[in-house]
Amino acid sequence: MIPRTRRAGEPAPWQQALAGAVRDPAELLALLRLPRALLPAARAAARRFPLRVPRGFVARMRPGDPDDPLLRQVLPLEAELAPQPPGYGPDPVGDDAASCTPGLLRKYRDRALLVTTGACAVHCRYCFRRHYPYAEASAGPSRWRAIVEHLAGDGGTEEVILSGGDPLTLPTPRLAALTRTLCGVPGLARLRIHTRLPVVLPERVDGELLAWLARLPWQVVVVVHANHANELDDDVAAALAALAGTGAVLLNQSVLLAGVNDDTDVLAALSRRLLACGVLPYYLHQLDRVAGAAHFAVDDARARDLHARLRERLPGYLVPRLVREVAGAPAKMPL
Ligand SMILES: *Cc1c(COP(=O)(O)O)cnc(C)c1O
Ligand code: SF4
Repeated sequence: MIPRTRRAGEPAPWQQALAGAVRDPAELLALLRLPRALLPAARAAARRFPLRVPRGFVARMRPGDPDDPLLRQVLPLEAELAPQPPGYGPDPVGDDAASCTPGLLRKYRDRALLVTTGACAVHCRYCFRRHYPYAEASAGPSRWRAIVEHLAGDGGTEEVILSGGDPLTLPTPRLAALTRTLCGVPGLARLRIHTRLPVVLPERVDGELLAWLARLPWQVVVVVHANHANELDDDVAAALAALAGTGAVLLNQSVLLAGVNDDTDVLAALSRRLLACGVLPYYLHQLDRVAGAAHFAVDDARARDLHARLRERLPGYLVPRLVREVAGAPAKMPL
């Protein structure tokens, strides 16, 4: 099929898919033929952190199953509104303290993280950034120049990480303008992109994005985020293969989530499926203690046990590092 040429100003297909995401809990329940009894709690929890899930991701869920591992990541639940255990708060990873200039987080040596946008294609209920003050803290184009000057002044930035939110929700011309500005960072060797879009909205990996990636003057690392093998269907596999075709190194990070992937078989299947898609597992994160997410927590002893059994089952390169982010620590901490 010959792709139809887009008229000037017409949104790209991925932008239409992004804008058409499901946001109404009633519609999500209807699409999956789930009981209406789930609706009042879903509505109440969505008032704190709105529901948002692309239709292609919904299509990978099992209809009629309220415990589907993909659904659990996005369905607002009553448990989010329950009193949270001690230690759960709005900024569990110390982002406020690590912000050196608006939009820039510098926690670790030689790496600087840019909060490019607050927008995401999907709202993950466990996300540590559900309370993050994006409007004040993300780096719009007006702040890029100041950030580059800050990095040039500090020196020693080998790697810039584009994060958010999700940087790939930005239009490609905007990303290209950002990377042109980053050419002013002396000694920059790597660009890393932290994104869930190739998984939840594989349409995003279009010719324009691939051309931008292929022309970057740095080594490129794309870290995607999938928590369960069911997320990686054939469309996602094709998008990941196309990304790898630009020369980018592909890694995955997951979050250990009760009721989603706190099971050795599930984690092993995820690692195998990632490899089949050309992606190596990088991190398995212990949940950040963000208020509203305590029902996803897996205690450390069980997490270590799951991880030990995973090491027995898989070749070493398919075992992700089990880590926790500790505010103020010089690296992600192994458990
Ligand atoms: C997680 C993180 C990084 C990247 O850490 P790696 O261990 O290199 O993956 C960099 N900066 C910040 C602020 C982070 O939170
Ligand atoms: S930042 Fe990542 S984990 Fe958080 S809501 Fe966005 S896609 Fe999900």
